[in-house]
Amino acid sequence: MERSQPAAPPSESEAAQAPADPAPRPLSRPPGTQAQRKRRQLDWELISCGFQGHRLVGTDAVQLRPQDYVLARDEGSFRFYRCLRCDSWVPLARPEKPVRPHPPDRDEIVVPKRGKALRDRVVLRLIAVDRAFHFVVLVALGIGVLLFAAHEASLRDAYYNILADLQRGVGGGPVQDSGHVGILRDLDRLFSLRSGALREVGAGLLGYGLLEGVEAVGLWYAKRWAEYLTFISTVVLLPLEIYELNERISALKVIGFVINIAVVVYLLYAKRLFGLRGGGRIDDELRARDMSWETIEAATPPPPGRPD
Ligand SMILES: [Zn+2]
Repeated sequence: MERSQPAAPPSESEAAQAPADPAPRPLSRPPGTQAQRKRRQLDWELISCGFQGHRLVGTDAVQLRPQDYVLARDEGSFRFYRCLRCDSWVPLARPEKPVRPHPPDRDEIVVPKRGKALRDRVVLRLIAVDRAFHFVVLVALGIGVLLFAAHEASLRDAYYNILADLQRGVGGGPVQDSGHVGILRDLDRLFSLRSGALREVGAGLLGYGLLEGVEAVGLWYAKRWAEYLTFISTVVLLPLEIYELNERISALKVIGFVINIAVVVYLLYAKRLFGLRGGGRIDDELRARDMSWETIEAATPPPPGRPD
């Protein structure tokens, strides 16, 4: 190591002036400037750091040891810190009030989610938000239908009275169930159901809504069982969705159908359900690999004095 380590922690006034030091040591080859950063189309690590800030280690350490070259490097009056999530190097003034002699050892550091682990979490949480939306809509519909079933008789009378008044108002004949289109046809259908059948429909909506809620919670916490539950509950309804699209097509239905197909393909292909492409074991290994110290070291520029 040719670099000299500071003999003592810099005093507060020294540290405050550090960046404006009139004669700083020239920066040899600051880390992060040796190779061009690989450009990725969608850098989840950078996006995540944008929200949560870089994950830097050793910002409170007096001195860096040789093995800390992966985490931080002293260059001139700066200390370059490596973000453990996005691999960026961030130059900061040396710590003003260091509280520990050196950065923590690797087994003390919790590596943030990165690589596949981070990507999986983002996608699963997007699906969880979609399922939470289903939960809210289905539970509201279910409660609405159950309330409707409880007061069906009086609501039906009011509905047909209003319709009859409206029709008289525009000079039409008596109310006829047939000939209605759109929402009126749906309402006619609803009123023609027995209240027993209505209660079944309401219970079904509530039940499916709760299932979507359970999926949302499980997916948010990246539980494997939630991936299976989501896969099964989505696939089971695909034939119904195709039937519905065949009956009456709408932009909302098409979007919902495309999302569900994408979820099924993602779970099968990327999450390797049912043992596909090596199954859950490979899935776990790939996530662990992207968060391992070996991967982090491989993405680290060599320390000064060691050939590239
Ligand atoms: Zn970062």
